[in-house]
Amino acid sequence: MSIEHHPTDAMLSAFASGTLDHGQHVAIATHLVACPQCRAFMHAMEHAGGAMLTGLPPSPMADNAIELIRAQLDEPEAPSSATRIPPVSTADVPGLPKFVRSYRFGNWKWVAPSLHLRPIVLPHDSDTRVFLLKAGPGTKLLQHTHTGVEMTCILSGAFSHDSGYYGPGDFDLGDESIDHEPVVEKGVQCICLVAMQGELRLNGLLGRFMQPFVRL
Ligand SMILES: [Zn+2]
Repeated sequence: MSIEHHPTDAMLSAFASGTLDHGQHVAIATHLVACPQCRAFMHAMEHAGGAMLTGLPPSPMADNAIELIRAQLDEPEAPSSATRIPPVSTADVPGLPKFVRSYRFGNWKWVAPSLHLRPIVLPHDSDTRVFLLKAGPGTKLLQHTHTGVEMTCILSGAFSHDSGYYGPGDFDLGDESIDHEPVVEKGVQCICLVAMQGELRLNGLLGRFMQPFVRL
């Protein structure tokens, strides 16, 4: 199945220049591992950057710029030996990139019926929390908005909302202006990697009831 939903060019540029915070960096890298189209865009930027650099006086800092970007695709920010611990099993998460599997994971936590969350402990500080979200087949996720940007990478399964159908490899972006009410496809559970800035705001009566209890 082809990938229909991608990060914006601005996000890919920010990734390449290293200006995203660590959690968002992980989300974009997760998409890049799955998406040949965005990898091609990154390579085109590398060439454009290389052409620009040839017009500048030699600079020792520019020598390995392209290699650094390429390395980010495979291993965004490898944990230092001091923070590296044996990874917990992520065998139950198809589609999770290898570099994410090397991170520390919390246990799956119940959030709501048919909805579980598993925190990912990033090796570097980040204002963005990263976690796996697992929703059962046919689950209608709680309608919600955010106080910041939310990046979602679909690892397996699929869901739909107002902006279309999202399957494995697709990238979904939410912000303060978007009211999500995704519905998971029937027949298979959906697992996503989510990088979420700010607070999640659950709407509706159930959401208001749950808000004090949901600490995402
Ligand atoms: Zn893409």
